[in-house]
Amino acid sequence: MDMDKLVSLCKRRGFLFQSSEIYGGLNGFWDYGPLGVELKRNIKEAWWRDMVTGHDDLAAPPGAGEPYEMVGLDCTIIMHPQVWKVSGHYDLFCDYMVDCKESKKRYRFDQIRGRWMEFTARNLHLLHGAEERINEIKAKQWFYIATNAETPEAGLEDTIARACKIFGLRRAKAENLLDWETPNLVGLDKDDDLTQVVGPDASREGTLTTPREFNLMFKTVIGALGGEEDVAFLRPETAQGIFVNFKNVCDSTRVRVPFGIAQMGKSFRNEITPRNFTFRSREFEQMEIEFFCHPKSSPQWYQYWRDRRVKWYTDLGLAGERLRLREHDKEELSHYSCGTSDIEYAFPFLPPGEFGELEGIAHRGDFDLRSHMEGKLVAKDGQLIVELSEDGKPKWKGSGKDLSYRDDLTNERFIPHVIEPSAGADRGTLAFLCEAYHEDQAPDEKGEMQTRVVMQFHPRIAPIKVAVFPLVKKDGMPEIAQRIYRALKPHMTAFYDEKGAVGRRYRRQDEAGTPYCLTIDGQTLTDGTVTVRDRDSLKQERIHEKELIAALRERIQA
Ligand code: ATP
Repeated sequence: MDMDKLVSLCKRRGFLFQSSEIYGGLNGFWDYGPLGVELKRNIKEAWWRDMVTGHDDLAAPPGAGEPYEMVGLDCTIIMHPQVWKVSGHYDLFCDYMVDCKESKKRYRFDQIRGRWMEFTARNLHLLHGAEERINEIKAKQWFYIATNAETPEAGLEDTIARACKIFGLRRAKAENLLDWETPNLVGLDKDDDLTQVVGPDASREGTLTTPREFNLMFKTVIGALGGEEDVAFLRPETAQGIFVNFKNVCDSTRVRVPFGIAQMGKSFRNEITPRNFTFRSREFEQMEIEFFCHPKSSPQWYQYWRDRRVKWYTDLGLAGERLRLREHDKEELSHYSCGTSDIEYAFPFLPPGEFGELEGIAHRGDFDLRSHMEGKLVAKDGQLIVELSEDGKPKWKGSGKDLSYRDDLTNERFIPHVIEPSAGADRGTLAFLCEAYHEDQAPDEKGEMQTRVVMQFHPRIAPIKVAVFPLVKKDGMPEIAQRIYRALKPHMTAFYDEKGAVGRRYRRQDEAGTPYCLTIDGQTLTDGTVTVRDRDSLKQERIHEKELIAALRERIQA
C-alpha cells in the first residue's frame, strides 16, 4: 500500500490533520478530525471494555491459571517530580542526538543509516620493460555516506553520486568504489569515527557533532513564582501513575492479587526526530495495564498477557502477516526485566521486512514498587540495589511507604511482580488505518468498473456504523429515511445523506469505512423493507424497517 495515498485520504476525509496547520504545522503533533476522533475513540473504548469493564472477574479466561480482577484509574499528567527521579526517567530517559553543522539538522544517532564506501586508486608501474606490472595503492579512503532514503535500493543511486563527489571521481569511474552493492543500509556504531561520516543532508564529511544525551521529558514550571525547584515534567508514560496509586487502590477496593489496574491517557516525549505520520509523535496517548501478581506465578501471567494482547489486535482485524509478536533478546532487556515482547506491525512506511512497535509487554518483576518504596534502583552483581550518591545516601529517595501486599488467606507478605502490557492508542489507530486501506474495482452508477477506495475497518471500530440514504429526494422517501436515521441514532453512529447520485454517496461512505449503507427506495413505500448494502462484499439484502436495529447491532457487535 502506498503511504502517500493513505496520508492524503486521512486529510481529505478528516481522519488526521497536522496540528496548527494554518500556521504551518508543528512537527510531531497531530489532530484527529471528525472521522479520526470516532475511530480512535472506538479503539480506546474497545480496549477499555475488553480489558476492564467487560472483563469477567469471576471466571478464569482462556489461558489464565485463575480468575483475576481489573480496575481502572485516571491520574494527572503532572505528578510529583520525585516520581520521575525514582523511576529512572530523570537520569536515564535519554536518546543520543547529533547535530549537523552544515545542514543545521538534528538526528537521533541510532536512526542514522547509510553505507560505508571504499575508494581505492592504484598506480600502475611497469617494471623491466613491461614484463611485470605491479599495482601500488595510491590512495585508499573510507567514508560512511548516510542517506534519508527509506529503502536500501532507493538510497543506492544517491549514495553513489555523493560518494563520487566526496572522492573526487567522475560518475563513469564509480566502479572504483567498493561496497556500493552492499544490499543493506547499516547504522553507526558509537565507536565509529564521525570525521569520516557524511551526514544525511551534508555535502561533505565531518559535519556531525559527537552524540549528546538528550532527555525526552518535557519540562514545565508549577506556580507563578516558579524557580528551578518548581520544575515539573509532563508524564512520558502513564504507568508511573498506576504504581504510585497502588496502595490507594488496594486500600480503597477489595481487590486481591492477582489483579490489574488500567489507565489510558496522554503522554509526552520530546522526540528528537518525530516522523512517519503519527507513529512517532511528541504528544500521544497510551493504554497501559499494570498487572500485579505473585512472583511465583509471574512467568505464566507474562505468557498469558502476551497471547491475550495479540488476540485483541487480531480480533479487531489486524489478522494478517503484518502483525507479529517478537520476544526481545537478552541484550535488549532492561536491567530489571525478566522478559519483554513487542507486538509489531509492518507499517507501509518501513522498509520491506521491518516492523514497528505497537505495544510492549514487559515482565518488570518488583522493580517499580520497590523503587517507589526504597528509591532509585540500579543493577549490581545481578541484584537490584538502591543507587547511592557520593555521600553514601540514596541518590533519589523513594516514598518510604510500604507497598508490599499481604495475602489475607495465606498471611504471606510479598512485593507483587508486575506484568505491563503498554500500548499506544495512536500507533494502534495508525495500524488499523493502514490495514483498512484497500483499493478494488466496483461498478459506478453507469455500471462501469472503477477503482474504489474502501476502508475495511472492523465494524466495531468503524467511525460511522451506518449511513441512511433516500434513493431520491421525493415520494416521501426522505421522510422515511430521516425517521429510520433518528431511530438508529441512539444505538449507533449514523449518518444521513440525500445529496447527489446514490452511487457517489456509497463511494463517500466506502472511503469513510462505513460498513452498512441503507437505501430507502420505491419498494420501501410498498413493503417497508430497505436495502442494506455491505461495504466489503457489496451484497445487498432487504431488511424490514422494524428489524433494522437488531440486525445491525448483531452485525457490528455494538
Ligand atoms: P519506541 O522504541 O518506538 O520509541 P518505546 O519502546 O520507547 O517505543 P514504550 O516506552 O514501551 O515505547 O511505550 C509504550 C507504547 O507507547 C509504544 O509501544 C507505542 O505504542 C507508544 N509510544 C511510545 N512512544 C511513542 C511516540 N513517540 N509516539 C506515539 N506512540 C508512542
